[in-house]
Amino acid sequence: MNDATRSPGPNRGGMNYMVELRQRRWLSAKAFEIELSRPTAFEFKAGQTILLIHANNARHYNLVSTPNDPYLETCVRLVRQGALSPILATAEIGSTFEFSGPYGYFTFNSSAHPAVFVASGTGIAPFVCMGRSGVKNFILLHEARSAEELYYQSLFREIASQYVPCVLEAPPADLELAGAFHGPVAEFVRDRLPPANYDFYLCGRRGMVREVTLLIDARFPASRVYTEIFD
Ligand SMILES: Cc1cc2nc3c(=O)[nH]c(=O)nc-3n(C[C@H](O)[C@H](O)[C@H](O)COP(=O)(O)OP(=O)(O)OC[C@H]3O[C@@H](n4cnc5c(N)ncnc54)[C@H](O)[C@@H]3O)c2cc1C
Repeated sequence: MNDATRSPGPNRGGMNYMVELRQRRWLSAKAFEIELSRPTAFEFKAGQTILLIHANNARHYNLVSTPNDPYLETCVRLVRQGALSPILATAEIGSTFEFSGPYGYFTFNSSAHPAVFVASGTGIAPFVCMGRSGVKNFILLHEARSAEELYYQSLFREIASQYVPCVLEAPPADLELAGAFHGPVAEFVRDRLPPANYDFYLCGRRGMVREVTLLIDARFPASRVYTEIFD
């Protein structure tokens, strides 16, 4: 297929490409990964997004594949009444999609301060890309409704200095998760995170990002905060 660069993208200078849907893998009943072919000219940095375009809809998705992988991969939450995610959930393997990119500045900045990654749901995606690309020794707080939605657990249990699943619905006693906190990430940041100057990276739901940012201002005022909001 022709994956050649076509034209400058719709905003911020990204280029447009055509790609093929190669694989879909469900991570839970609500989220799936899609693998797309990678145009040879397309370069990006860990933490950046692509804008997938279909008919009149265009939506951003973070890449979970690394800048060195020969394919592109994203992790998508199925919004049942949504315009694009149901199409990505059901499109036939071999279908073609247009995308533009790369976009965004939510990339990892090394510093002397410990990094705290805070994600809700598929907001984990940019941290997957950073982790697979070699970023280590961060604290990761991942909020999910249920244990089933704690995507990429094994990766983070291996590379994070501390991995804290924050599960909203308490898992049954026989399914207790090692190191799990039962409650929203905001509660963990408020009550459990020791005082220090951190570099915070927040990604996911607007409400979570807003609440955690306010807590950081109150409890960790000298910390840096980087954010990416999904809705
Ligand atoms: C910078 C950026 C990066 C993003 N990266 C990802 C990513 O890696 N993975 C991913 O799954 N999504 C990501 N999103 C969200 C994604 O772009 C779409 O908004 C989402 O897939 C819904 O699109 P839709 O067309 O299916 O639904 P729409 O028709 O756009 O939305 C229907 C409704 O669902 C709400 N909604 C949007 N996203 C969610 C969600 N995740 N959970 C619950 N409700 C939601 C919207 O606010 C809207 O009210 C990102 C968004 C931005 C801005």
